[in-house]
Amino acid sequence: MTNTPWRSTVLTLFPEMFPGPLGVSLAGKALSAGLWTLEARDIRDSATDRHRSVDDTPAGGGPGMVLRADILAAAIDAADAVPSATEDRARLLMSPRGRPLTQARIAELAGGPGPLIICGRFEGVDERVIGARRLEEVSIGDYVLSGGELAAMVLIDACVRLLPGVMGKQESGADESFSDGLLEYPQYTRPQSFEGQPIPEILLSGDHAKVAAWRRAEAEALTRSRRPDLWAARPNQAPIPKFRQNRPKDTTDG
Ligand code: SAH
Repeated sequence: MTNTPWRSTVLTLFPEMFPGPLGVSLAGKALSAGLWTLEARDIRDSATDRHRSVDDTPAGGGPGMVLRADILAAAIDAADAVPSATEDRARLLMSPRGRPLTQARIAELAGGPGPLIICGRFEGVDERVIGARRLEEVSIGDYVLSGGELAAMVLIDACVRLLPGVMGKQESGADESFSDGLLEYPQYTRPQSFEGQPIPEILLSGDHAKVAAWRRAEAEALTRSRRPDLWAARPNQAPIPKFRQNRPKDTTDG
């Protein structure tokens, strides 16, 4: 383990939104404890004109405004110039056009030095800055938000809970949804009977092997029925012809 805490830097037009929800509960306690750091930098600080403008109308016409490439590039370069900035950190652009975020990518990001995250607003950002600063476009789902800030918070929250020392029990990260390509098994706690529904008897049996087998079977059944895409994508999985027919292997990837 290194002494440097996991370090997130967010470029935004609304730095006052941070830490926001990241300042409470698990992430907030870890932030106060110095297990990770958060720096929200105002993109507007890199504006050059009197009005501190950061956007302009889209070339070719159309509605809305676009974040200027030169302003955003200057904001990224300024963040990179901070002495504690590391060369190998991921540079993410939150974007509905990006690669959908997965638990696997979250685990990678949590294992690194911590990302630089750029939050778009308006119609998005000038395409040229994406290539010029080698930004990785990341989406949190197939819907459109009004800005990248909530998406950045989603990403940071998912990373922070995986950092060493953040979750109470280390194993609570290993067992949950997506960790094994499966959705999590159903959970129960007291009371023993809720509106006539008992807790499944096997969970009260004290037989750990049986409990583990039951949970595994439940997780598999849930994943098969709710997320055939996840089920089919699991490694070492016998092919399920029903889904393979409709889902040819994605060859555009990588
Ligand atoms: N016109 C753009 C959407 C802009 S939404 C388009 O059609 O693709 C404004 C900003 O919100 C984006 O620049 C991005 O930073 C953020 N955003 C919106 N939806 C998002 C999503 N699903 N995932 C990640 N970021 C998103």
